[in-house]
Amino acid sequence: MLIQVALPVPMYRVFDYFVPQNSYFPSIGCRVVVPFGKTRTLVGIVIAHISQSELAIDKLKPIIQVLDHQPILDQHLLKLAHWLAQYYHYPLGDVFAVMLPTLIRQGRLLENNQSKQIDTQAISNKNLSLNTEQQFAVKTIQQAIDNQCYQGFLLNGVTGSGKTEVYLQVIQSVLASGKQVLILVPEIGLTPQTYQRFAERFSVNVLMLHSGLTNPVRLAGWQACRDGSAKIVIGTRSTIFYPFADLGMIIVDESHDQSYKQQDTLRYNAQDVALYRGFLLGCPVVLGTATPSLESLQLVLQNKLTQLQLTQRAGDALPVKIQLIDARKQKWQFGLAQNLIQAIQATLDKQQQVLIFLNRRGYAPILLCDGCGWQADCPRCDAHLTVHLQPVAMLKCHHCDWQQALPKKCPECASENLDPVGMGTARLTEGLQELFANIPIIQIDRDTTRKKHSWEKIYQQIQDNPTAILVGTQMIAKGHHFPNVTLVVIPNADRGFLSADFRSPEHTAQLIMQVAGRAGRAEKAGRVLIQTRQPDNPALLTLVRHGYLTFAEQLLFERCLLHLPPFSHACLLRVEGKSLDKNHQFIHEAKAILPYQSQFAEFGVSISGTIDAPMTKKNSRFHSHLLILSKNRQFLHQLLDDWWQAVLQLSSAKYLKLTLDIDPISWA
Ligand code: ADP
Ligand code: ZN
Ligand code: ZN
Repeated sequence: MLIQVALPVPMYRVFDYFVPQNSYFPSIGCRVVVPFGKTRTLVGIVIAHISQSELAIDKLKPIIQVLDHQPILDQHLLKLAHWLAQYYHYPLGDVFAVMLPTLIRQGRLLENNQSKQIDTQAISNKNLSLNTEQQFAVKTIQQAIDNQCYQGFLLNGVTGSGKTEVYLQVIQSVLASGKQVLILVPEIGLTPQTYQRFAERFSVNVLMLHSGLTNPVRLAGWQACRDGSAKIVIGTRSTIFYPFADLGMIIVDESHDQSYKQQDTLRYNAQDVALYRGFLLGCPVVLGTATPSLESLQLVLQNKLTQLQLTQRAGDALPVKIQLIDARKQKWQFGLAQNLIQAIQATLDKQQQVLIFLNRRGYAPILLCDGCGWQADCPRCDAHLTVHLQPVAMLKCHHCDWQQALPKKCPECASENLDPVGMGTARLTEGLQELFANIPIIQIDRDTTRKKHSWEKIYQQIQDNPTAILVGTQMIAKGHHFPNVTLVVIPNADRGFLSADFRSPEHTAQLIMQVAGRAGRAEKAGRVLIQTRQPDNPALLTLVRHGYLTFAEQLLFERCLLHLPPFSHACLLRVEGKSLDKNHQFIHEAKAILPYQSQFAEFGVSISGTIDAPMTKKNSRFHSHLLILSKNRQFLHQLLDDWWQAVLQLSSAKYLKLTLDIDPISWA
């Protein structure tokens, strides 16, 4: 009558309890309410039935209540939880806390839902006729669906090549077999358009899950997945943990997207979890993207993913033409060279739309004093404050929630000549309005889409104004289909190629290609103009002349020479504390107790020195890192298993926030 329970406490252990004679005996995967410490009660998950405990029998406490008669986590999800705890070196109880919706964690009782069989099969007949490459992709994925076996696919298709049509037709096969489909989408790619395309095609229950839902709505969605009534589920990152009655396929759309990696607590990568979950369930997993990550290209080379290529745009759409604009020795207005302004005018004259990509919201990124050179900085971060004029004039930090009124005078020299320097989307919008009077300028960024239904309104505005300029941040880079946009302008693309982060060129190229992909998606030809002050930059030239895949191959070669991921496996120890000295002291001690040092050469292990994060001070806390690379993944994890527990015991670890980031994608 003994059970082992995982509890949501930050401890790397599980807890033993006994089940009183008069109580229902809970199965593995059920929730129980248990006493914890002197006064607390917690909701935990039963993970094992045991015959004896290390604790004396009179020390064991009884459980208080069994919340479920049916497990809320099936065998697959339990296996997945154990894998997550092991791979990310995270406490099992906390893994469950990340996997389960709030109300479930709080102990909300579930109605005893029977599995619902919904009549499907009223499935679509609106399929487009596929081109040869699409046909091959659909046929290959269909074989895996028919065989009911795991296979990972990389659907590598240029923007506008009809990846979604491939999804739709393979989904049809899955639905026909009575199973469910999960489609993961990036955080901000979730638009009314996404939902519409799936809901229009199939007359089954299509469910959308995203971070904006209330807890009761989220729970209802969770149950609809679990009882099988939701047939197509479109969701962001955390949906990968939802229970499914009968999941037949997982699609990860825009699989290169960084929002699939959770950047706090359990730092999982939903794409990797999707592959593992597909493997456990024995169902195909499709990663779709125009700009595959170097990791997934490497998996193709290792035959761990099957690559399906769509090299042409679908239907009548023409390939996008990308051109560099040498911005040196030209007259500028509002950050745009003269010949860019002419190209915009010419597009508007044809009654078509222009999209300008500027990855900086607000009015200007810097406020500078003409008198003494003072700049407005955030008191909490190593960062400038951004000037915002709307809805009221403010200085705001984009890294913490600091904000203050826009000063009238310089705090150093009392000069009144304070100049906003640089260009944000709001300032560009204002400038464009001056250059192109009477043309609607539509600003799309976090500031203009914050309110409920604002996205819908902006979509409507874009549809209602065939002649218009859209100005947007990376929000507009992803997945959108604006058929009348024929010119895309990228005014400052070179910055990302200069960053110290070794992943920056990859991410910059992905972003440029995604933005470029918004041009000419219907029958009208599309053009992309990239403004640069470095027209000879070799990275930019390769990308523009030879495309993303050639660019990525070159990067892979460089990473190989430098033994960087994906040619090694990385773990970043993130240290956050009140002073840099304490961070450094701790990292020094943590390095000293690394085990197996004599085997480092054999397994290609390299350990960095202390690295202060690019933004060392953020929200009044200091951030430092230690990077561990190993050619051998198994060895790396064995090393971490032994080292991590010892690290947590170090006295210098007290009062620091420590995180292991496995397969980190950003150094920030
Ligand atoms: P991607 O997801 O690869 O960017 P989409 O699936 O959005 O591309 O397709 C781009 C456009 O091409 C859409 O308007 C879509 O309806 C159309 N399309 C896709 N496949 C075909 C096809 N086989 N024949 C005609 N049009 C197609
Ligand atoms: Zn001054
Ligand atoms: Zn700040």
